[in-house]
Amino acid sequence: MKKYLISPNRKQYKANLHCHSILSDGNLTPEALKALYKSHGYDILAITDHERPHHHQQLAEPDFLLITGYECYIRPDKLGRYNPYNKEVHLNLFAREPQNTTMICYNETFCKYLRRDNAFHEIKARAGSERPREYTREYIDEFIRTAKENGYIVAYNHPYWSMEDEADILAHEGCFSMEICNYGSYVSNGLEYCGALYDKMLYNGKRIFCHGTDDNHNVYPVDHPNNDSFGAFTMIMPNDFTYSSVIHAMEQGEMYASMGPVFREVSIEGNRLHVECSEAAHIFLYNGGKRPGMLHAAPGESLTCADFEIDKDARYIRVSVQDAQGRWADTRGFFRDEIGLPPLEA
Ligand SMILES: [Zn+2]
Ligand SMILES: [Zn+2]
Repeated sequence: MKKYLISPNRKQYKANLHCHSILSDGNLTPEALKALYKSHGYDILAITDHERPHHHQQLAEPDFLLITGYECYIRPDKLGRYNPYNKEVHLNLFAREPQNTTMICYNETFCKYLRRDNAFHEIKARAGSERPREYTREYIDEFIRTAKENGYIVAYNHPYWSMEDEADILAHEGCFSMEICNYGSYVSNGLEYCGALYDKMLYNGKRIFCHGTDDNHNVYPVDHPNNDSFGAFTMIMPNDFTYSSVIHAMEQGEMYASMGPVFREVSIEGNRLHVECSEAAHIFLYNGGKRPGMLHAAPGESLTCADFEIDKDARYIRVSVQDAQGRWADTRGFFRDEIGLPPLEA
């Protein structure tokens, strides 16, 4: 029987799950961001300003959802100051309920960084310890746990920019997904496509999904080469187009990351994996080993489908395609138990 990892019958909704407005260090208003993304074919936008959630539900329409959330950071400086040579952690918190704007582990000194809105000190619901943030294993785990206990799902942002080691990222407990591409950082550093890092996570047994975002601040207009909008996105496949179904789909990994290409189908029948996608130059089936499945287009030609045999010893599988412009699309990793393979013998 055919098992769909991405079904051709499931509608895909295009989302930008990370962006900044004038409420923190972005340059566009929430209204302008919504209009810009809607006019570029997006269905879902999460305006994730720094350190304080706003729900923006007044901008929602029947065919355009706004996910409530915000971006939090944990860094070594006692006053929360930025140092480009320090490791730090940035997390996106997405609220299960659209009206939830609880501030997690608020600390006034630490959290005022980059705030622009005058209402910043307005009392909002708060949860968790309000001591100065600490860049320690214990504090980061406590922060993520507190966010989850208070109605958020938590994503790990721009791993390259944050400069953490693989071991650091592996140790974070409770993030449902990591940004495999953060386009704002990609524009500035060229390395914020983290397919290799994502494979390291999966190889080490980390159950984490992947998604793509713009993390746009719109310092430059959209037709400028330094523009940071419309470079990476997430396709989400909810059962229906409601806020709660979209959050549920994200949490279940019913989504994939892309910088351009789209998947039309990824399915398994027996030990065969079938891929259908938009025009690609390369299609890979990663399996946690040294010999991924691969199919390369001849020069000047393109691929729109591929079939692979799933190796019986695969640690996991995930599919990536790259188009002629070098833009990637990536499914999440699926572990053996998720695709009906027996456990490997020790
Ligand atoms: Zn960030
Ligand atoms: Zn950001």
